[in-house]
Amino acid sequence: MAGSEGDRLIYVDMNDQSVAIEPFPEDWKLLGGRGLSARILNEQCDPTCPPLGPDNVLVIAPGILCGTAAATSGRLSIGGKSPLTNGIKEANVGGNPGQHLAKLGYRAIVVKGQPADPERRFGLRVTAAGAEVVAADDYKGLWNYACCEKLLADEPKAASVISIGPAGERKLSGASVACTDQDKERRPARHAGRGGLGAVMGSKCLKWVLVDPGKAKARKAVDSKGFAATAKSYSADYLAGPQLFANGTSGFVQTANMLHTLVYKNRTDGQSPDVATLDGAGIVASFESRGGGMHNCMTGCIVKCSNVVHDAEGRYQTSGLEFETLTLLGSSCAIKTWQEVSELDRLCDEIGLDTIETGAAIAVLMDSGNMEWGDSDGAKKLLREIAEGTELADVIGNGAVATGKHTGHARVPHARGQAIPAWDPRPLKATGVSYASSPMGADHTAGLIINPGMQPDEFAQASQESQMVNAVCDSSGFCQFLRPNLDSISRFYSAFFGETVTREQLGDQAWDILQDEWKFNEAAGWKPEDDRLSECLVEEGIGPDGVFKFDVDADTIAAAKVRFDPREELYTVCASG
Ligand code: SF4
Repeated sequence: MAGSEGDRLIYVDMNDQSVAIEPFPEDWKLLGGRGLSARILNEQCDPTCPPLGPDNVLVIAPGILCGTAAATSGRLSIGGKSPLTNGIKEANVGGNPGQHLAKLGYRAIVVKGQPADPERRFGLRVTAAGAEVVAADDYKGLWNYACCEKLLADEPKAASVISIGPAGERKLSGASVACTDQDKERRPARHAGRGGLGAVMGSKCLKWVLVDPGKAKARKAVDSKGFAATAKSYSADYLAGPQLFANGTSGFVQTANMLHTLVYKNRTDGQSPDVATLDGAGIVASFESRGGGMHNCMTGCIVKCSNVVHDAEGRYQTSGLEFETLTLLGSSCAIKTWQEVSELDRLCDEIGLDTIETGAAIAVLMDSGNMEWGDSDGAKKLLREIAEGTELADVIGNGAVATGKHTGHARVPHARGQAIPAWDPRPLKATGVSYASSPMGADHTAGLIINPGMQPDEFAQASQESQMVNAVCDSSGFCQFLRPNLDSISRFYSAFFGETVTREQLGDQAWDILQDEWKFNEAAGWKPEDDRLSECLVEEGIGPDGVFKFDVDADTIAAAKVRFDPREELYTVCASG
């Protein structure tokens, strides 16, 4: 079979743990990943439902090109109604489960309902023979690494896992969904972090999904020769170009500091005095003495931005220690070294927490005077307690806004209940327009623009274009760090489906995805007047003499949600800023 022929959907009803496998609708052919998740949620989820109630729907959807021979195309979307934003959310993740599902011909797993007994735990096994829900009570409370180790011990080498840690089981709003990477150890180090979708999975008592692709082959394109030629030339061009992510995103620490977006002490400054000891150059230098190195988190990735970080004794500690984590769990908490952040990152991966939301929550706690700045031991203790469930740990696990409410502290940098990512919207105002107007809330992967010199009259259109390109990228299966644009994705789709898919069609599809998401959010109760960032980002400046404030007016933010006439940039601008 080639193209989308024979593709299927897995429907799981957790009310009675039944599974139904249905043909993939032909008119959804061009939908995958984020776009498919948005369509399913619009058609099958009541937008007014409580995010942790039985009527929320969890969507696990590989991108369109997942499982093909296109390089760096195996990303997976996790979708649902977010307990943080109360709106639609998609979190995109690497690792191998996306490719494995796609090779088996499954375009999405759609999980509905909730078991009558919330103390039960279940797993979903997906193989070439079909899918079944099985009892997984003996996995209850296991941290992610132990869970995957136990689960994979008797499974074929190819199998991969999607899982939640104790934070997801305890339905905390900062909970992530973990995916195992492609290394032989199959570690759950890749996380769909943003939006608290781990809590949605936990609310369904679904502890893990195991995917065994067996002998499933790569997905075939209808125009197989054209697809192979496109994939070959695209990879060659990428590898001949500048390797922006060769040392991982941790290499951006110094640049971010220069741009006043290495935020310090809960964003009261944009530069950190600890820039040298947080810088990713130190991580790269440690490979020689400690071991570790750069690797790809999923099979077939040619970007290889992910690091494997070892401790001082040369033992594996974590992987994917990224710029966002170094900023939120490091500089924003005045924690000084990448070594300390590395330990915190491992704990977040183990317990199943978004490092951005959790770092932001700890910074709010410190800013409120309830923990010393830079107290990494205190932060570690608190993270461990999240697995057990103390009152304060639960507050932190529920994110920055919950922490502000609990401590009575007003400086909580967020948009619509979700903490602001590392890239600060004050020096990068067009990115701030994305945080305020995106249906994803404050999420840098929804529309990052690293152009501090941009003029105000360009903010709205630049944000809209970035949001559109990223929506298509997160539907395609490509990792944003490959930096594809609509022009290149259209060539891959045309060969894969054996029919012309123009870049203009993809521009329209991008807009349709955003429309689907805004429609869901509007029905969920989002109001245009809430398209804004929290007051502290508007009133408190950072940079020289506090020159950088988020002073973008409401009309500019609103303009990002009204479609501009497409210009060439829409098709040629790359995903990921
Ligand atoms: S570029 Fe990095 S995050 Fe993206 S798939 Fe490759 S290793 Fe994973």
